[in-house]
Amino acid sequence: MEVIQVADPEEAGRCAADLIDDFEPRVLGVATGATPQLLYRQLVTRRCLTRSTILCLLDEYIGLPADHPQRYRHAIEEQLGDPLGLEVIAPDVDATDVQVACDDYEARVDAMGGVDVQILGIGRNGHIAFNEPGTCFDRFTHVAELSAATRADNARFFNSAAEVPRYAITQGIGTIRRAKRIVLIATGDSKARAVAAMLDGPISIDLPASALRDHRDVVVIADAAALAMRAQRETRSCGTA
Ligand code: PGA
Repeated sequence: MEVIQVADPEEAGRCAADLIDDFEPRVLGVATGATPQLLYRQLVTRRCLTRSTILCLLDEYIGLPADHPQRYRHAIEEQLGDPLGLEVIAPDVDATDVQVACDDYEARVDAMGGVDVQILGIGRNGHIAFNEPGTCFDRFTHVAELSAATRADNARFFNSAAEVPRYAITQGIGTIRRAKRIVLIATGDSKARAVAAMLDGPISIDLPASALRDHRDVVVIADAAALAMRAQRETRSCGTA
């Protein structure tokens, strides 16, 4: 795992955009949440993605009305897909059989040759996508129940905590680990404990992000606040080889 220390969230966005630019992904795996938004702004400004790039959603809530603004499809279309005219693919959370929808999504991603670059954030509890602590590392796309901690964290995007869905379809850790390159962004002190555990703690299902440690191409872009609890400090700066 390579760690790049950046000064602030803006530099994290620029640095992640550089890495994506270098790779020229055909299939770009996109996370939602607050963290990647500055990256998406960079990608829109730079217009470095080709028109054939496919944006592949990492996860999606189950149970929100189709036009709900917190549907991740809408967020990604608004932040990236529409400004750049790119296709967004998402699991069919409205399907009568969501288990079938999970298998279909996994097969669809596979048929495209898998994800080239997967963008990730990290939860305060160490989750990646909606793979909460306790999720087996070999799972592929599946229905996940959100932990109480995640629902509380995501309440800021809704009018009330009660509105946050309980379930989502998420790519599994097995799906995520198939991506050719993974770029994980973590900023702010609320992520410090999870980042330290991911980088230096045991590889364990108690900390889902630790599953990334044996992937051959993972770059963690983090600011000083997110790295504050690290024991070891082998980092490079953005833009240095
Ligand atoms: P955030 O979410 O970017 O809104 O902090 C990250 C995550 O839960 O993966």
